[in-house]
Amino acid sequence: IDNDPNRAPPCDPSVCVLPDCFCSEDGTTIPGNLPAKDVPMMITVTFDDAINNNNIDLYKEMFNGRRKNPNGCEIKATFFVSHKYTNYSAVQETHRKGHEIAVHSITHNDDERFWSNATVDDWAKEMAGMRIIIEKYANITDNSVVGVRAPYLRVGGNNQFTMMEEQAFLYDSTITAPLSNPPLWPYTMYFRMPHRCHGNLQSCPTRSHAVWEMVMNELDRREDPGNDEYLPGCAMVDSCSNILTGDQFYNFLNHNFDRHYEQNRAPLGLYFHAAWLKNNPEFLDAFLYWIDETLANHNDVYFVTMTQVIQWIQNPRSINELKSFEPWREKCTVEGTPACWVPHTCKLTSKEVPGETINLQTCVRCPNNYPWINDPTGDGFF
Ligand SMILES: [Zn+2]
Repeated sequence: IDNDPNRAPPCDPSVCVLPDCFCSEDGTTIPGNLPAKDVPMMITVTFDDAINNNNIDLYKEMFNGRRKNPNGCEIKATFFVSHKYTNYSAVQETHRKGHEIAVHSITHNDDERFWSNATVDDWAKEMAGMRIIIEKYANITDNSVVGVRAPYLRVGGNNQFTMMEEQAFLYDSTITAPLSNPPLWPYTMYFRMPHRCHGNLQSCPTRSHAVWEMVMNELDRREDPGNDEYLPGCAMVDSCSNILTGDQFYNFLNHNFDRHYEQNRAPLGLYFHAAWLKNNPEFLDAFLYWIDETLANHNDVYFVTMTQVIQWIQNPRSINELKSFEPWREKCTVEGTPACWVPHTCKLTSKEVPGETINLQTCVRCPNNYPWINDPTGDGFF
């Protein structure tokens, strides 16, 4: 990494200016140089993998229309969706409700080395292909599918980011930053990353790319942050393996909230797989209790999507200007009915997934074939 002759230069704040470029030397600077006390505390809740009957109820309970940000709009989350077993009528409804849909690949290839070594073309088939599937079968036509997260958080180096520029993706959220105080703000990849490439044999991009990085700040999982010895942080909440009870999870949420809120108010990312909450009702209860309590006690805390964070960074507004900040009022409260009450259940096969018949639920017409990397439309022409 250090010996790429074409590596991006270190951050130069005189060249890198908003709205399209943002960086700082150590990554901790607040956009627009606002004082921390004027910065809204943004919380980004994300869920990875397929959306289907295993988790739809959980999302309904969490986003029940009664949890509101201080501007009166319903809290929002971001879903990094992988293809296999996804119910696209549920994706359509999730998008209708104002949550963000982003891509997490078609195959979710479980060979982690695949993602480290994939070519630009492999990345395009997996991620731009997934966007084609989502747009078609969840009937999303507003060009809002702009984010990428790689399976297993395996960063694809320059190839992944070159693909993202070529395919006009806005941001990646795969790169983790080691636990740090203060935590990091998201940054653009025009200049060198402000932290080391963290994780086992990761391949971080070295060159300059026109892509935002919604960096995953590791969370502090120490039970007693004042006294306990050093414990490495964790990026996905469900990989914080020492959380065993609802009380521990509640304390963990409060401690990490305070760490962000009382330092530079870098957005707090809470990254989940639905199964972790679903299989541990105690964790779900603690999380919902914490969300409600946090919203009740603060008029400067907003649960927003990844794209809404970028919109704020591009146009930083102080807390008292937020009630009229239009990007955060989009789909403020959503009424009306789903696109369809009874989706089509398409029983499909594909030459690319031999021997399997897979159900695909969608409000639009069934395709002839199960969509896959060489045939994302499912037309069978490839
Ligand atoms: Zn995944």
